[in-house]
Amino acid sequence: MGIHERYNLTNVINAAGTFTPLGVSRSPAIVGQTVAEALSEFFLIDELQDVASAAISQWTGAEAGAVTHCVAASITLAIAAAMAGNAPDRVAALPDTNDMPNRVVLPAGHAINYGHSIVQDVRLAGATPVLAGSAQQCAIEALESELRQARTACLLLVSSRLVGGKPIDIARAVRVAHDCGLPAIIDGAAQDMRVKEILATGADLVLVSAQKYLASPTAGLVIGRKDLVGAVRAHEKGIGRAMKPTKEGICGVLAAIAEREKADLRAWRSMQEEKVARFVQRANDHPGVSATSIADPVGMPFPRAQLTIDPAHAGMDAATLAVALRSGSPSVWVMNHALKEGHMILELVPLSDKELETINSRISAILTA
Ligand SMILES: *Cc1c(COP(=O)(O)O)cnc(C)c1O
Repeated sequence: MGIHERYNLTNVINAAGTFTPLGVSRSPAIVGQTVAEALSEFFLIDELQDVASAAISQWTGAEAGAVTHCVAASITLAIAAAMAGNAPDRVAALPDTNDMPNRVVLPAGHAINYGHSIVQDVRLAGATPVLAGSAQQCAIEALESELRQARTACLLLVSSRLVGGKPIDIARAVRVAHDCGLPAIIDGAAQDMRVKEILATGADLVLVSAQKYLASPTAGLVIGRKDLVGAVRAHEKGIGRAMKPTKEGICGVLAAIAEREKADLRAWRSMQEEKVARFVQRANDHPGVSATSIADPVGMPFPRAQLTIDPAHAGMDAATLAVALRSGSPSVWVMNHALKEGHMILELVPLSDKELETINSRISAILTA
């Protein structure tokens, strides 16, 4: 009996991407086996963290790395590290920042909500978030003038769909932070496949999710400067207690990084392209649906399927179709950020051919009912 049957749980087909409310990703078997093995063993957790740091360095070329509970935790702890360093009295004082510079600057368009507000991650450390520019635009000069008054850190975001407003040149923003003597921290939670590229901007810390495309158990990776990574770990004895990684999480991360390093990314990429092409071809048969393959807006190495729904021929709009898909069994979830514009976008990365066929036959059944 499968786990869904055993606990009477809803069967889900996740075409919504690495979406937290759906369980994010599917781990390869070797990651599951490593996690199962770790659960019944004892370790020196500091040693596990050291081994993870070496593995992250080897994978990314960065000086050091650490594992936290998740990216939300990584954001709070990266800010804590930038603000308080590793001094034990300061580690113990947080989130009280009375005697510390505590202003953290981020472009207003980067103050996103990924299930909660990223600004709250900053405040959790005791820092004061300062938004530069407007939601529509943050000129580099506006960022610089806020950074000149702050003495803590600059927080930036790299995301395929959450960032708002006119895009910012991240490498330039990092240089401006450095000119002001401040570290630049980049939340690149879902950008693990581009982590080297993001580190190449000169960022001091890059924060990446281990449970998204890397497909380990839930964990956050803090990657970058050795002193700051060390300070993140020092905060495990402070506010980071509630944000600590588990032994099975760290071991799962090690197995997932080993899988990534072994992977033939070129073959993986063509497999994803072919999968989307097959799905799109079939989806074009539905009445009122024109399907196409679209590239990731920030350069993640796989396409998604975009189904544009013409209500005059489909008999319903994209949002109504998405609700119908979600209400059935299995419950099919698609990306919802472009429904208003008539586009239903599906991320197919973790899905099997059988699941793709189920999605298409469900769309067909709904539109021809
Ligand atoms: C997913 C995500 C997070 C949160 O990651 P968790 O590991 O779930 O805490 C933060 N920022 C961005 C941009 C994300 O996409």
